[in-house]
Amino acid sequence: MNSWTDVVVPALESQGFLAPMHLTNSKTGRKEIVEKKSEYRMYVCGITPYDATHLGHAATYLTFDLINRFLRAQGSKVNYVQNITDIDDPLLERAKRDGIDWVDLAHSQIDLFTSDMVDLRVIPPAHYIGAVEAIPLVVKAIESLQAQGTIYAIGSDYYFSNSTKSDFGALSHLSHSTMEEIFSQRGGDPTLIGKLDSLDCLVWMSQRAGEPGWPSSFGMGRPGWHIECTAIALEYLKPDQTNSELIDIQGGGSDLIFPHHEMCRSQAMTLTGKELASNYVHAGMIGLDGEKMSKSKGNLVLVSNLVAAGRDPMAIRYALMSGHYRSDRMWNDKLLANAEFHISRLRQSLKLENVHPTQAVIEAIIRALADDLNTPAVMAIIQEWVASSLEGSSGGDRAEMERVLDALLGLKL
Ligand code: ZN
Repeated sequence: MNSWTDVVVPALESQGFLAPMHLTNSKTGRKEIVEKKSEYRMYVCGITPYDATHLGHAATYLTFDLINRFLRAQGSKVNYVQNITDIDDPLLERAKRDGIDWVDLAHSQIDLFTSDMVDLRVIPPAHYIGAVEAIPLVVKAIESLQAQGTIYAIGSDYYFSNSTKSDFGALSHLSHSTMEEIFSQRGGDPTLIGKLDSLDCLVWMSQRAGEPGWPSSFGMGRPGWHIECTAIALEYLKPDQTNSELIDIQGGGSDLIFPHHEMCRSQAMTLTGKELASNYVHAGMIGLDGEKMSKSKGNLVLVSNLVAAGRDPMAIRYALMSGHYRSDRMWNDKLLANAEFHISRLRQSLKLENVHPTQAVIEAIIRALADDLNTPAVMAIIQEWVASSLEGSSGGDRAEMERVLDALLGLKL
């Protein structure tokens, strides 16, 4: 699938100040160093294009955009892969309910998502892979699992017996009964008769009447969600077989820790005998005015609607960065209005001939970003610099400040 329009990132003169990045690893619960390397492998789970992509999605992809930008500013390459689950139950159910073709529904939602990413200046993944186009890879991965004796049939569907792996649960740290509860809430089938363990997951679903199917050695059907990401990550990130971990970062929203990332980790470990990722990084959820954002509550805030109403995408980006990526947080119009106020002052200061000294400020911005993406601290540092510049302080390098805001924070003003 075509990725969205690339974003030009300026080179920094301040590159030498870049401190090693630290990120919180969901598996250990600790802030850990992301060792400097010439190339990183980052996999971030993409959307299922059946419903409007909202600010919560934007906040997640913005988080990994900040990581991507920081690692690239170090002079490293980032092989960034994202999937898009363009065939799955929710997509077919929604298309049926609304009387539209599932392919048309997926395309319209993918277009909406990619236009949001372009508006927010999110650097596109190097490989943007749809589930449908990945079916041959997924089938190959299921066949490899089958050769290891970890696949079994229930009727004409196939399941992966992931829960027998010794450290299944080491990512989410949940008890078996809590996992069952969450699995059930998030589309899993823990009570299905015939399963060896309630937490085993579907890897191949046979074709149902009126639904699409693709040929495979498991019959006509379609892939399960977890094996889709596992197969795409292992194929497109070309893991370094000499490392004990296959990739550097596996990421997504915190609602993916279980079951999705736990399942992917278990499948990848079974396929390769290695840990999937050095760092499992997860972004918090965004609510609206004190409530969880959801279609059923009718309170989704869409980037596209805000932009169509004339709101500045850079202010939306700024507002999302004003909270810490790991925290569940609320969106409200005051947050955006406040961001618009600060963006306007920042623009004013960048038009001044003389600005407040920048070197120490840029170093402080970099230190805060390197410390588990502490963007609230970054915003406070920038606001102080703006205030001093607007008060007439001078001696800074305005052009470099502009490049730092663009390259590291994605703010082009
Ligand atoms: Zn995924």
